[in-house]
Amino acid sequence: MNSIQLLSNHQLRKTQFRERVLDIFLRYERALSQKDLEEQLHESDRITLYRTLKTFEEKGLIHKAIDGSDRLKYALCAGHCDVHAHHDHHAHFHCVTCERTFCIEDVQAPALDAPPGFEVESTHVIINGRCAECAH
Ligand SMILES: [Zn+2]
Ligand SMILES: [Zn+2]
Ligand SMILES: [Zn+2]
Repeated sequence: MNSIQLLSNHQLRKTQFRERVLDIFLRYERALSQKDLEEQLHESDRITLYRTLKTFEEKGLIHKAIDGSDRLKYALCAGHCDVHAHHDHHAHFHCVTCERTFCIEDVQAPALDAPPGFEVESTHVIINGRCAECAH
């Protein structure tokens, strides 16, 4: 899957900027913050980047990788998400040494009960630890 296919699969108009942002996600295979992306784009049109990320999230291309840190990160969706719903119920691994965050597709969040009268909207599983590179 390349960036052009991803854009057309999600009914998004192809622009050079969108392609470049998606290429970065495809290359890194981990969650990226807006700052991570800015560093790779070599130009800091923050408003355009912010809007692009919002659009990608709305269309089911990327999801928020909740990792317990105070920096918002996004990661590519596995492919079943669309404009109607996201299905990213997997865990996110946050490395406490390098601060990088990874989607762990094999670990799914369990269905958790809430007290009577409470409504569960989302459940996040965060694994803190050291990634393969930092553990050695
Ligand atoms: Zn998704
Ligand atoms: Zn690490
Ligand atoms: Zn994820």
